[in-house]
Amino acid sequence: MSVVGSGPNGLAAAVIMARAGYEVSVYEAGSHFGGGLWTDRFEGFDGSFDVASAAHPMALASTFFRAFEISRRVEFLTPRVSYGQAMVGRSAVAYRDLGRTVDELGRSGTGWSRVMRPLLANIDAVRGLSGLELRAHPSTVSGAAALASAVAGFSTLRAEARALAAGATAHGAAPFGSLAARFVGAVLAAEAHASGWPIPRGGSGAIAEALVSDLIAHGGRLHADSTVNDLREVWKPGDIAFLNIGPRGLARIARDKLPTTYVRRLERYRYGNAASKVDFVLSGPVPWADARLQDAGTVHVGGSERDVSSAERQAWRGQVPLAPYVLVSQPTRLDRSRLPQGSSDEVVWAYAHVPNGSAVDAVEMITSRIETFAPGFRDLVIHREARPAPYFASVNANFEGGDVLGGRVDAAQLLTRPTVTARPWRTPIPGVYLASAATPPGAGVHGMAGWHAARLALRRIGQAAPYLGID
Ligand SMILES: Cc1cc2nc3c(=O)[nH]c(=O)nc-3n(C[C@H](O)[C@H](O)[C@H](O)COP(=O)(O)OP(=O)(O)OC[C@H]3O[C@@H](n4cnc5c(N)ncnc54)[C@H](O)[C@@H]3O)c2cc1C
Repeated sequence: MSVVGSGPNGLAAAVIMARAGYEVSVYEAGSHFGGGLWTDRFEGFDGSFDVASAAHPMALASTFFRAFEISRRVEFLTPRVSYGQAMVGRSAVAYRDLGRTVDELGRSGTGWSRVMRPLLANIDAVRGLSGLELRAHPSTVSGAAALASAVAGFSTLRAEARALAAGATAHGAAPFGSLAARFVGAVLAAEAHASGWPIPRGGSGAIAEALVSDLIAHGGRLHADSTVNDLREVWKPGDIAFLNIGPRGLARIARDKLPTTYVRRLERYRYGNAASKVDFVLSGPVPWADARLQDAGTVHVGGSERDVSSAERQAWRGQVPLAPYVLVSQPTRLDRSRLPQGSSDEVVWAYAHVPNGSAVDAVEMITSRIETFAPGFRDLVIHREARPAPYFASVNANFEGGDVLGGRVDAAQLLTRPTVTARPWRTPIPGVYLASAATPPGAGVHGMAGWHAARLALRRIGQAAPYLGID
C-alpha cells in the first residue's frame, strides 16, 4: 500500500492504514518528511525556524489529531494572546480569554462578544461544519446559525473588532470579503478563544516526527527524494494508494488511467494568492508600538479592515501590494528551544500575500510594513532569509504558483474540492484516493483529508479498523 507525499494528510492516511495492518510505503519528493510540517536550521545562523506552518489551532481541534493523541506526543505552547491586529495607535488583541478580549476592545467589545459567544457555545458543531470533526452534532443547527450570524455580523462590527475579524478573514486562500473568506475567518477567530493558537515546542517538524515515528513503529517505510512521476511506479490494479498531491499533480501522474472529463475538471482547479516569506532573527523582541502584541503568538500586520481589504484586493488583481497584509509569527516569545541556550535573540516568521506566480522578494516590503507598527524593528534585524513564492512551488509541487494553501477557496471551490462529488477523496481509479489540502476540509494541519480517504478505503474492503474509531 503506497502513499505519495508525506504532508499531514499523507501521514495521517499512512498511520491509520499501518495500524490497520497494512504494509505502508511513503514516497516523498522532498528530502524531509512532513510537507508543510517542516522545521529547519537557518543558513549561517545558529537557530531553527518553521519553513511553512507555524500556528496550529486545527491540529488540536481535529478529530484525527485528537484520536492520535497529538497533545500527548508533542508539547503545545499556547500564547495568552492568540493573535493581534497591529494598528496605528491602539491595536486589537484576541486573547485566549474572550472576556478580557471584550473588555480591552472597549466600545468594539460588545459586537465581538455578540459574534463570538454563540460560536464558542457551539464549538463542536462549528468544528463539525468546518470539517475538523467527523460527526454531525446535536447542536449542528445552532452551530450553523452561529456561523451564519458571524459571517453576516463581521461587517456590522466597530473599527477595532472589525479589524480583528479582517485579520482572521484574510488567512484563507479566499477572495477577501467573500462568504468563504468570512467563514474561514469566523472559524479561526472562534478557535482563538477555544483551543487557542498554539505552537509546538521545537517547531512544526515535531508534529511530523510524531507521525513518522508512529508509522515506523507500525512497520511503515518512508522513502525521501522519491518523486513519483507515474502512478504505475507505486501502484498496480488491486492495490491501494493515497495521493497527498494536488489535482494537477494527479492529472500529471495518472492521466492515461483517468476519464478525460475528470482530467479536464482537475486541470480547471484554481489557485489563490501566493506567499512571499522572510525569516528573521532579531536581537530582541519586535518593538511593537502596542506592547500587548509582544505576548501574541501571531500578529496580523495590519491596520484597519480597509487596509487589509485594499492589500488583499490588489494581490487578487495581480498587483504586488505596496502595503501588503503580512502574517507574523513570534515563536520564540514562548519557545526558547529554537535558539541556543542563553540567547536573548528572537525568531520572527513573516509572509506577505502576493499574486500567484509573483517572484517578488518581500524583504523590504515586509520590513517596512512591520516598521510602521513597530518603529525600530529594522535596526534589530541581525539575520534574515527570503523565501519568495517560487521557492514554495519548488519545494512542494502542491504549492502551485506559491499558493501555500493548495488551492483557491471561493464558495464554489470550498464545496467542490477538487470536483463535484459526494466523495471527493475517491478518484475514478479503484483503490486510488486523493488526500491533500485540495480535498475537504482544505488547507491547514489537521490530517482530516487523510482520515476521510483512509476511512473510505477501509470501508471499501470491508475492514473495520478499531483504531481511532474509524469503523
Ligand atoms: C509559509 C506557509 C505557512 C503556513 N502556515 C500555516 C499555519 O500556520 N497553520 C496551518 O495549519 N497551516 C499552515 N500552512 C498550510 C499547511 O502547511 C498546508 O495546508 C498543509 O501542509 C497541507 O497538507 P497536505 O497534507 O495537503 O500536504 P503538504 O503539506 O502540501 O505536503 C505534500 C507533500 O507531498 C509531496 N509531493 C507532492 N507531489 C509529489 C510527488 N509527485 N511525488 C512524491 N511526493 C510528492 C510534497 O513534496 C510534500 O512534501 C502554511 C503553509 C506554508 C507554506
